[in-house]
Amino acid sequence: MLLNYKGLAQKIGVFLYKTSNNSTEKIYLLYPNFSKYKTLLLRHKKNKEMATDRFQGVDYFQIDELLTEEHILVRNSVRDWVKREVSPIIEDYAQRAEFPKQIIKGLADIGAFGPYIPAEYGGGGMDQISYGLIMQEIERGDSGVRSTASVQSSLVMYPIYTYGSEEQRKKYLPGLAKGDLMGCFGLTEPDHGSNPSGMLSNIKDAGSHYILNGSKMWISNAPFADIAVVWAKDEAGDIRGMVIERGMEGFTTPETHGKWSLRASATGELVFDNVKVPKENIFPNVKGLKGPLGCLNSARYGIAWGAIGAAMDCYDSALRYSKERVQFGKPIGGFQLTQKKLAEMVTEITKAQLLAWRLGVLKNENRASAQQISMAKRNNVNMALQIAREARQIHGGMGITGEYPIMRHMMNLESVITYEGTHDIHLLITGMDVTGINAFN
Ligand SMILES: Cc1cc2nc3c(=O)[nH]c(=O)nc-3n(C[C@H](O)[C@H](O)[C@H](O)COP(=O)(O)OP(=O)(O)OC[C@H]3O[C@@H](n4cnc5c(N)ncnc54)[C@H](O)[C@@H]3O)c2cc1C
Repeated sequence: MLLNYKGLAQKIGVFLYKTSNNSTEKIYLLYPNFSKYKTLLLRHKKNKEMATDRFQGVDYFQIDELLTEEHILVRNSVRDWVKREVSPIIEDYAQRAEFPKQIIKGLADIGAFGPYIPAEYGGGGMDQISYGLIMQEIERGDSGVRSTASVQSSLVMYPIYTYGSEEQRKKYLPGLAKGDLMGCFGLTEPDHGSNPSGMLSNIKDAGSHYILNGSKMWISNAPFADIAVVWAKDEAGDIRGMVIERGMEGFTTPETHGKWSLRASATGELVFDNVKVPKENIFPNVKGLKGPLGCLNSARYGIAWGAIGAAMDCYDSALRYSKERVQFGKPIGGFQLTQKKLAEMVTEITKAQLLAWRLGVLKNENRASAQQISMAKRNNVNMALQIAREARQIHGGMGITGEYPIMRHMMNLESVITYEGTHDIHLLITGMDVTGINAFN
């Protein structure tokens, strides 16, 4: 095992070392081009903890052959981390409706915070396919955990990197990459969800600073975030982005309770009551709706990959269950109706994988359009939700329990199909693109 990694490590220019004790063997890859060495790879556990998560990847069309060795290395290392750190605890945290904060450092270590942000700002310096694969593997564990990583990377680090000043980049990005600082993204308001351009949150120029008033709703990570990237209108009516820090007077983040979906993710409101915002906290390099939409493009791209992870987990569990569960004297996988479900699942997963991979290639070349990203997000999340529902049927009564991940994935995906643009809004985006006619209003 070690030898394989050694050859690969030399090829992609990383250092490697190995430690071991009776129950574990760890192999670390140290990327020399990172500002601070980043441990990315692997811990091979030989104990029973890992045996509880029996997930095996789904690759019916040899799509791994389209990936580079580095992609596979990153994918496998995150898969291994999810088996070790997420799978054993996630059901319990979801049942308790609590985000497992102790995994934040691990998420940072596997490169889940800012994978494609340049290394000089603490990011992973990876390509878009690596980013997608990281999201896929984390969501294979849980959509709520993936949401935390998506928000941190695409909705907080991306806008600071893309629209921020050099001072803002240096001040926030390294801490965000390490998980020392956690962020959230405030766009949605109580009366403006699908139509954020109508937002009421506003800033007024008060000479040495701005005064921010308004509120945001449904904000992932809000209850524990140290900073919030917030979008509000200035006096000219232009949407401006800014960084709001916990502790600023008049800024509160009440938690949203009673969710049946994304229960292992913390959601809350952002309330701004005459908050004094220093002028240096405003993003200098963007104005208008294109600011938040640019962030959403990056996050939606990650979701298109993430949803494949949830679908793969449901399929993997359903396939195994169908071979083990015996009714009428034979495994239920031997009935045509079960085979139809499984065959359609693996077909849809394969189509989604190819769509995501192609989108990743286009994104690496800066050629992925917002409309293509919408199509992939819509298709892949819907695909995952349909698979979760079919997998639930295959598990019979057991499918509604926390013994299997199915019901948790299914409930999570009800949020994923709504946030970052609803299923129907993405359909309208495609409709407008192909007809040239706006059907939104
Ligand atoms: C768990 C969770 C976490 C979230 N995290 C964040 C976050 O971190 N940051 C953030 O800013 N937001 C976040 N959101 C908000 C999310 O993006 C919004 O819920 C979403 O954009 C939809 O807005 P809405 O809920 O107000 O629904 P609405 O916009 O009120 O839509 C209701 C229904 O009407 C339909 N509809 C609306 N307009 C049209 C139209 N023109 N034509 C046809 N149908 C239409 C929609 O498709 C939908 O079915 C989160 C939401 C959830 C549930």
